[in-house]
Parts: sequence; structure tokens; C-alpha cells
Amino acid sequence: MKNLKLAARVTKERTVIKVSDVEVGKDLVVIAGPCSVESEAQMVASAQAVKDAGANMLRGGAFKPRTSPYAFQGLGLRGLKLLAKAGRQTDLPIVTEVIDPRDVSWVAEFADVLQIGTRNMQNYSLLKEVGQTGRPVLLKRGMYSTLEEWLNCAEYILSEGNPNVILCERGIRTFETYTRNTLDLSAVPAIKELTHLPIIIDPTHSTGRVNLIGPMSMAAIAAGADGLIIEVHYNPAEALCDADQALTPVMFADIMARLRPLSAFMNKLPTNN
Ligand code: PEP
Ligand code: MN
Repeated sequence: MKNLKLAARVTKERTVIKVSDVEVGKDLVVIAGPCSVESEAQMVASAQAVKDAGANMLRGGAFKPRTSPYAFQGLGLRGLKLLAKAGRQTDLPIVTEVIDPRDVSWVAEFADVLQIGTRNMQNYSLLKEVGQTGRPVLLKRGMYSTLEEWLNCAEYILSEGNPNVILCERGIRTFETYTRNTLDLSAVPAIKELTHLPIIIDPTHSTGRVNLIGPMSMAAIAAGADGLIIEVHYNPAEALCDADQALTPVMFADIMARLRPLSAFMNKLPTNN
């Protein structure tokens, strides 16, 4: 692919990104937590549950890019503070989405990893802004984007001087409507050929169906993915965002137990716990 000066894989060497004690690209990274931060009780309970099950990073959205302007938009700064507190209490690094270039510098003070969502993959001013922080960036694939477009977006971040880009395949739009999106697992080996950057899979937003998350998590690791990002809520029925696709802590723990031997077989070191 032309134009990939920094993202292209030219040697066998792969980028390993350190986030606290987790080495993304080497350790199996499992980022888990609710779609959005809703309250202190919700965040603390979710953080403890995912930690106990073996997740090594905590997710939670404080700024939600919702399809409807009338849907819950996230708690903003208050949400970030609650997420940071839950992260500190459980000793888990935190991953959160940033949707506005004007918020990047102060959100980066809270977040260990800045997430760029699918709807913003080609928001070039946002990409440049996160490229100017030193913070690791989780760059989700645009739901209508090719691998080449996606890697060019990674290049935007890298070319600003931030080498810490983690790619995340979260499903693309196809004619299929049974699943929320179509998980393109072939992106994993393809991306491994094209770039030295690590790639993780989001089985939650790609399938939108609780029963498909376990099997697709296993398939992702078998395909060589460096990790997963999974939505877990302590009471999915009450979730303010993406309630239909959230796992209970028990369901998540069950998937983690099945992933452990597979990730060892795939030569990924087990998670911290
Ligand atoms: C999310 O992670 O909650 C999210 C909004 O993801 P995506 O950008 O992949 O839809
Ligand atoms: Mn979500």
C-alpha cells in the first residue's frame, strides 16, 4: 500500500505498546467494562467484576457518539472522574472514547488509552490531535472503511509523532441485518501482513448479540488477534447504552475461562491476573 511510510510492515519486528503493566502486542489484552459510565456504583461494581474475571484494562464511555441526539450522551467530565476512580481502585488502566478535538488534551490527562470510535475514524483533525499526545490510541475501523483507508488513518496519528496505535476491528456494514455489523475476522491476518501495529477485536459491537460474543472472541484469538474489547454491565437490563449486547459478569467470566487455554496455545502470555 502506497503512502504508508510509518504504518507499513517492513521488517518482522512488531510494535509492542506498554499501557501500565500490559504489553499490547505481547500479552493478551482484554479490555472490558460498560458501554458508558453511568454512576459510581455501576462503575465500581463493573470494574471489580471484570478484574476478577481476568480483564487487564477497564473501558467506559464518558462521551458517547449516539445515533440520536436525544439518546444518553454520556456524563462527560463527571464520567471520566468516576472511570478514573474505578480504574485506580482495581489497578486497571482505563480506555475511553474522545469525540471532539477540543477535548483531547484534558481527556488524555485521565485516560491511559484514547479510543477513536468507528464514526470518527476519518475525523482527521481528531486524529492529528490524538497524534500530538503521547497517549496510546485505540483506533477503531470505520464501519464503511477499507483496510487501506484504516491504515492511512493510523498513519495520520503516527505521522504526528505518536507511535502508540492499537487497531480495533469492530465490524463493518453489509447487507446482513441479523447481526449489528459483520465481523471481518480476515482483517486480523491481513493487518498482520500489512502493518507492525497490534490489532484487537470488538466482538460486542460487531455482532450486537450476546450469544455470539463468546464464539467470536475465541475465533478472534485463533485468528491471531492481540486482544479483545468487550462490553460488560453488572445489570445489562438497566444499561443506558447498548443494553442488548452487554454481557453479565458471569457470562464474561465464562468466556475468559475458555479463552485462557486458547491464548496460551496461541503463544499469547496470559493476562495479569
Ligand atoms: C463503543 O465502544 O462504545 C463504541 C461506540 O464503539 P464503535 O465506535 O465501534 O461503535
Ligand atoms: Mn457501546
